[in-house]
Amino acid sequence: MVKRLGRCLCDKVTYSVDGEPIRVGICHCTDCRQESGSAFTFFGIWPASAFETSGETDQYAGRQFCRCCSRLFAYDAEEAEIKLGSLQDAPSGLAPTYELWIKRREPWLPALPGAEQFEEDRIYGEETKWIMHQKNSPMSTGALAGAVSR
Ligand SMILES: [Zn+2]
Ligand SMILES: [Zn+2]
Repeated sequence: MVKRLGRCLCDKVTYSVDGEPIRVGICHCTDCRQESGSAFTFFGIWPASAFETSGETDQYAGRQFCRCCSRLFAYDAEEAEIKLGSLQDAPSGLAPTYELWIKRREPWLPALPGAEQFEEDRIYGEETKWIMHQKNSPMSTGALAGAVSR
């Protein structure tokens, strides 16, 4: 099974994910912009059971941060969301199959060919199942209350 390794910029937090991601996407929402300081984020989702981390992290709005540098991942009981730019190997060999919050996409940035496009969050049936974009997540309750305008 493929094992991918990642770390934060200052090396205090390391992690690994086993096997292939469930899905890979990019997100243009304002939370992702603010947090990354960039125009969008590139992430992959693995089952929580495939994810291991070491090092001390702080948490804000359901996102885990290295105390020194930046956010790497978010996870709940089911899934782990990894910022793919923190993987050890570049390029990652992974490509997004969908884009979120395209209404926030910079106008100079074209839609990724072949990627499914979502105006806001990705919807599964009636429910949005999403870690960092999930409004009902126990981890993010309250913290994301003001995030409606993303
Ligand atoms: Zn760090
Ligand atoms: Zn986002």
